[in-house]
Amino acid sequence: MSLISENLEKIRLQIPDTVRLVAVSKTMPAENIAEAYAAGQRHFGENKVQELAAKYELLPKDIQWHFIGHLQTNKVKYIAPFVQLIESVDSLKLLIEIHRQAVKANRKIKCLLQFHIAEEETKFGLDKEEAIVLIEQMRQHNLDHVLICGVMGMATFTEDVVQVTKEFRYLSSLFFELKSDYFKHDSLFSEISMGMSGDYLIAIKEGSTNVRIGSNIFGLRNVR
Ligand SMILES: *Cc1c(COP(=O)(O)O)cnc(C)c1O
Repeated sequence: MSLISENLEKIRLQIPDTVRLVAVSKTMPAENIAEAYAAGQRHFGENKVQELAAKYELLPKDIQWHFIGHLQTNKVKYIAPFVQLIESVDSLKLLIEIHRQAVKANRKIKCLLQFHIAEEETKFGLDKEEAIVLIEQMRQHNLDHVLICGVMGMATFTEDVVQVTKEFRYLSSLFFELKSDYFKHDSLFSEISMGMSGDYLIAIKEGSTNVRIGSNIFGLRNVR
């Protein structure tokens, strides 16, 4: 058995069937993704548009691609025809462009609202007030080719379990608050995307429905 499939098997044994595993394949060559695919993995996550578009061309078409990085509006068109879930939406401008490109591609595109829950300043994402404004503006614009399916966030990069637990718990509480205030009768609004290689077990305890795991599957990346 190859290392990648062994890693996948180990992780699958640790997570409940109800939690989706997204294999974060950024910076990894297509061969490594093909290996994970051969081991049954279908959801993959990428954070660069060009890289994702190139891999989409090379790899089996039943792969469900998640976009998990900062998305520039001028690049939405390259992934709109095929992307399964854009996990990193944090502005109206971006939502309007996703809607526009979804109309062109004759499909509806699922999105998550990305929240800033970590202590680090550099990470993208909304706070609660911004999200509420965004949801209200979105409704005024009638962006009916965008499907808001839930929330996404990254915890502080720390060994401090108490801190990470607190941040994930906060993201879960945001999800439930938005659900009851804005998406009560919308069964699509159901996703809490949280948990990476270092913290996915904590994230699952706190209600994650979608973990995004890279290095624990593919090994360490070259930093870039
Ligand atoms: C890189 C990345 C991951 C995966 O990180 P690992 O620590 O390698 O598991 C998850 N989510 C996002 C948004 C990422 O950019």
